Amino acid sequence: MAELDRDVLKQEMTGWRRDLHAHPEFGFEEKRTAAFVAAKLREFGLDDVTEGVGGTGVVGTLKRGSGNRAIALRADMDALRITEQSAAAHRSQNTGFMHACGHDGHTTMLLGAAKLLAAEGGFDGTVRFVFQPAEEWGKGALAMLDDRLMQRFPFDEIFGLHNMPGLPIGHFETRAGPIMSAEDNFEIVLKGIGGHAARPHSGNETLVAACALVTNLQTIVSRRLSPADISVVSVTELITDGTRNALPGLARILGDARSFRPEVSAEIERQMRVIAQGTAAAYNVSAEVTYSREFVPLQNDAELVDEAFAATQGVLAVGVAAEPMTGSEDFARFLDHVPGCFVFLGNGEASVPLHNSSYDFNDDGLLHGTNFHVAIVRQRLGGAAGK
Ligand SMILES: [Zn+2]
Ligand SMILES: [Zn+2]
Repeated sequence: MAELDRDVLKQEMTGWRRDLHAHPEFGFEEKRTAAFVAAKLREFGLDDVTEGVGGTGVVGTLKRGSGNRAIALRADMDALRITEQSAAAHRSQNTGFMHACGHDGHTTMLLGAAKLLAAEGGFDGTVRFVFQPAEEWGKGALAMLDDRLMQRFPFDEIFGLHNMPGLPIGHFETRAGPIMSAEDNFEIVLKGIGGHAARPHSGNETLVAACALVTNLQTIVSRRLSPADISVVSVTELITDGTRNALPGLARILGDARSFRPEVSAEIERQMRVIAQGTAAAYNVSAEVTYSREFVPLQNDAELVDEAFAATQGVLAVGVAAEPMTGSEDFARFLDHVPGCFVFLGNGEASVPLHNSSYDFNDDGLLHGTNFHVAIVRQRLGGAAGK
């Protein structure tokens, strides 16, 4: 069994990460990224590499020994529609797009784990390396599942990670149960009769009604839901067809809602419809509510969380219980099929927030993420079958 030099691997991974960072691609357009991933996996000598799973997804399979259990490790490959503010040599060469969420780091760390496990073994069974497209719009995991991921590349459990600004490098956090929220989107269209700004009583304009509705929507979380249920209702846009000296006959209110249980998501929608109709009636306009569910809540399996803590003893610096986060993650879709565990890995305390236009994954975290993947494989597929 050939032991890989970790310093050499870290250097190599830094090169891959910066190359991926310089060539960001939007969800379902990760052609170069997917080709890069597939070429590396083939170079490492995996048993199978399949491209085009759910659009631009890639699945690598590595088998050792005779064990019949399989675990999946997942990374996301997509970038965001953000213009990068950076003077770094590896800044985005694809204007208007950037890796502002560190998925370049996730892809690289999983490639590092594939290289290390292919070279060193140390497990008995099957590892599936799942590289998914389009995490940011919450469609990539579903696309792979719809392309029969579970039937073509079956596995018993799945692990994933996200880099986390504010958490020290080499530290990780996770928790049993809900860890990341559902994301629902809504649009409320108010219709009345626009008209002259000097004669509001001649029509039924929609702007004052819309402002009242924005305020009333704040009572869903503060007055209709239990304080024990973490949730957020955010109005993010208010658009009207009004103009200087003309009152609007149309107003659109858009926003998103976060919650951790399907029952809470359902109650937010129900209350929103009641409040929208009631407020519209009070202002003599009509309201139409469209409500959609984009991301489901991410629920970690309690037993696998314990396994993650155990596997990382001595591998990563400190593991602590995370608070539930009101961000959302496509990883949750895989957990409809198998139990799994999602963890946060430190990107350093000085890091700017995710989705910031000067975000850059910290290369000092690369080996830690790879070590996490490798440790979990060896913990869950125990046995040293080797090469
Ligand atoms: Zn993101
Ligand atoms: Zn992300």
